[in-house]
Amino acid sequence: MTIVVTGATGQLGHLAVEALLRRGADPTDVVATGRDLTKLADLAERGVRTVAADYSDPASLRAAFDGADRVLFVSGSEVGQRVAQHTNVVEAAVAAGVGLLVYTSIPQADTSDLVLAQEHRATEQVIRESGLPWVFLRNSWYLENYTPQVPTYLEHGAVLGAAGQGQVSAAARADFADAAAAVLLDPGATGGTVHELGGTESFTLAELAAAVADASGQDVTYTDLPETELVAALVGAGLPEPYAAVLADADRGIADGALEVTTGDLERLIGRAPTTMREAVTDAVTALRAARA
Ligand code: NDP
Repeated sequence: MTIVVTGATGQLGHLAVEALLRRGADPTDVVATGRDLTKLADLAERGVRTVAADYSDPASLRAAFDGADRVLFVSGSEVGQRVAQHTNVVEAAVAAGVGLLVYTSIPQADTSDLVLAQEHRATEQVIRESGLPWVFLRNSWYLENYTPQVPTYLEHGAVLGAAGQGQVSAAARADFADAAAAVLLDPGATGGTVHELGGTESFTLAELAAAVADASGQDVTYTDLPETELVAALVGAGLPEPYAAVLADADRGIADGALEVTTGDLERLIGRAPTTMREAVTDAVTALRAARA
């Protein structure tokens, strides 16, 4: 069975290829695609086939999907262009007669009011209408949206957000990637399946701050801001305004439960407990100490 992974030059897609190999896939059955083949050199060295593919270049997608039985379609990162790009991906998958298209989406994509959900909802619709068998992996937030900020949290003694008391079911990218590999390798995986994926233990941003405080022994508290003030703070920290607005909107959604997932689908798919927020924070603090030693 030939499995093609798009976005393999990125973090999630790369981890998904590694998870496929760890789960026993033959490297020659796996095709890793991305725009820049040099970023796939390590996978090529392990025997994985690598093919250049750009979501804006339909011919490259058709060539990449030639002979594919299953495709992991990692959502693109160019917000605002993704519906057109993703439609190219779906059309190429149809042309290649792909047997299962597995798309990485966002929780409750069909009803979510998050700004980020709009392109996922449109993509899911294009996929549903394509006639292809599909699986949607509706991934909640990555823990890695928070852990690289641990040095900043410690510097300011604060986690800033606009998520109120909302729970976020963030999980490690590697666990989402492992879930994707499990689905891709499952002979019983059938089309028309939605997996709502998130960490088993959801948390508030106040609990995130408490975990950083506990792991570091320093005072770190959560400051909840109005959404507009969070945008201003993020812009002040150097983020472009449109990006800051999308992040603040995500926090507003977290306050309303938009990234809370209680299905247990992630743990069930990977067959073990996902990495918890406290484990990830402890690892981040330990790594920071080692880097500063
Ligand atoms: P990365 O930014 O690390 O990877 C994105 C991947 O998408 C890269 O391989 C990138 O290729 C590829 N890509 C983007 N545009 C195109 C294009 N036009 N043609 C071909 N490939 C393209 O993101 P992650 O791996 O961390 O996350 C995967 C996806 O999940 C993101 O793209 C985004 O849709 C979504 N996401 C989810 C988050 C969450 O918390 N759940 C947070 C952030 C994003 P290249 O290397 O060439 O740029």
